[in-house]
Amino acid sequence: MPNTAVPFWRRKSLEEMSHDEWESLCDGCAKCCVYRLEDADTRQVYFTNVHCRLLDAEQGRCLDYPNRSTRVPDCVTITLAVLRDPYWLPASCAYRRLAEGRDLPDWHPLISGDPDSVVRAGQRVCHRTICEDHAGHLESHLVDWIE
Ligand code: SF4
Repeated sequence: MPNTAVPFWRRKSLEEMSHDEWESLCDGCAKCCVYRLEDADTRQVYFTNVHCRLLDAEQGRCLDYPNRSTRVPDCVTITLAVLRDPYWLPASCAYRRLAEGRDLPDWHPLISGDPDSVVRAGQRVCHRTICEDHAGHLESHLVDWIE
């Protein structure tokens, strides 16, 4: 019998997780829905406060999640292959944390039991971003509060 007292993300590898467990790892911070700039030489990633036009900035959810890759070809689906080198994801991202051998933070809904704990912890980008349709040049929108 599996030890169900230990939460699944501590007793299973990413490879072993079910579809529902995998999906539940996303905390809804929406940090991966803002545009990033990257120095091709150093791989330094710079986050902007410009969000994808498919992001519901209030709720931190994609407005068309099933079709996002078709509508936004640059949208990256997080897979095991992607997580072999997750440097471009925010350091707080649950997938990156687990891929790097770290645990989930206290404010993660799987630990707090409350989806709003992400907002209370200041981790969701809602109310602090601008839609790409109105932003102009990305270089004018670099921010240092996404990590
Ligand atoms: S950065 Fe990670 S945890 Fe946050 S919305 Fe994107 S996939 Fe989910």
